[in-house]
Amino acid sequence: DAYLSAIDAANGALNAYVTVTPDKAREMAKASDARLADGKGGPLEGIPLGVKDLFATRDIHTQACSHILDGFKPKYESTVTQNLWNHGAVMLGKLNMDEFAMGSSNESSYYGPSVNPWKAKGSDEKLVPGGSSGGSAAAVAAHLCAGATATDTGGSIRQPAAFTGTVGIKPTYGRCSRWGIVAYASSLDQAGPIARDVRDAAILLKSMASVDTKDTTSVDLPVPDYEASLGQSVKGMKIGIPKEYRIVGMPEEIEKLWQQGVEWLKDAGAEVVEISLPHTKYALPAYYIVAPAEASSNLARYDGVRYGLRVDGKDIADMYEKSRAAGFGKEVQRRIMIGTYVLSAGYYDAYYLKAQKVRTLIKRDFEEAFHAGVDAILAPITPSSAFAIGDKELAADPVKMYLQDVFTVTLNMAGLPGISVPAGLDHKGLPLGLQIIGKPFEEETLFKTAHVIE
Ligand code: GLN
Repeated sequence: DAYLSAIDAANGALNAYVTVTPDKAREMAKASDARLADGKGGPLEGIPLGVKDLFATRDIHTQACSHILDGFKPKYESTVTQNLWNHGAVMLGKLNMDEFAMGSSNESSYYGPSVNPWKAKGSDEKLVPGGSSGGSAAAVAAHLCAGATATDTGGSIRQPAAFTGTVGIKPTYGRCSRWGIVAYASSLDQAGPIARDVRDAAILLKSMASVDTKDTTSVDLPVPDYEASLGQSVKGMKIGIPKEYRIVGMPEEIEKLWQQGVEWLKDAGAEVVEISLPHTKYALPAYYIVAPAEASSNLARYDGVRYGLRVDGKDIADMYEKSRAAGFGKEVQRRIMIGTYVLSAGYYDAYYLKAQKVRTLIKRDFEEAFHAGVDAILAPITPSSAFAIGDKELAADPVKMYLQDVFTVTLNMAGLPGISVPAGLDHKGLPLGLQIIGKPFEEETLFKTAHVIE
């Protein structure tokens, strides 16, 4: 009830929830009370969570914040959310996001942008909460839920966490099942939590992760007790600092924060070494080929017949065209065009195949660093703190918006886990985060290292 009234009071201003489910929340909370009374409580008993609108929730509006999914109420539940409910959690509602998870500011949502609860010192300007999981981050930061589900294809868990002073972890590709999550770019998409601190993120990921026969890319490995890794020593750990992340034009405060992170880890007994990930500069352009290519294929299913919105036409082809033209927003249409272009017969080899090869090189860079004894990598997460909603420069040039993802997409291309942890405030008093990147399926290392920084 406390969370539901907090949502009532603040959601008008923050636009973090696109659907609130009070009846469902109370029904689940009652069932939770009953289990507790029977001494049968699970690890998340009664914990109220928000769910990114990308996760299918049975009989509850699931729209990926797109007009084209108007009215879609799935008859099934995503594996990740089902795991959370099985462990006792309670659903408060569905959270705002960029349409089909495409964006870094939550501004491409059909429901309009979610608003960052943080404001710059002495300013009343509305700031973005980051994207695409902007609603998840805003809701967690504003205490409109105890934690939230999110997804990360190229940074959508970590960047919003950094912009809102929360913690977000993108687990290794395959750690969580993608079943029942609306697909953006299937070889990159991965679910994870956004939470108030590292401990909450550890507890939530433990419940979200599982192998699943319905997603053959999910991996059959035991899910460790992540919480147990908090407080473990980082003494003797080797932390890599990738020199290629020192990009031209990086603000001095970000550089300083990064250095501060190095000092904290050294003080805790870690050894810090410079490393090289030589193909880093190709990660962003390659990502913006691979992700739209997969998206254009995944989005082919929205044809006005099977889901949501239909705009009638003079024949079936006309109906497809009209439905897709009306149903997809501008950014999504742009991605479909890029994706179909790079997959088309004449350009496949030049763009898509090339990008896939670059992807292998990026993966190899990381493998070599780990092979040389590095346990984890410390890097910035965003090139700035949260920017204004409607920022003219970013709105005028989509490529500038894509540059927001320069530090985040690399690890998605390699399938690696990464955590974003709040590390300080900038001169405007806005939160900044640092990112720790780890070896495949070694999320425990990320939790213990992040715990030293937070
Ligand atoms: N900003 C990136 C994009 O628009 C990443 C989004 C995501 O991780 N879902 O593709």
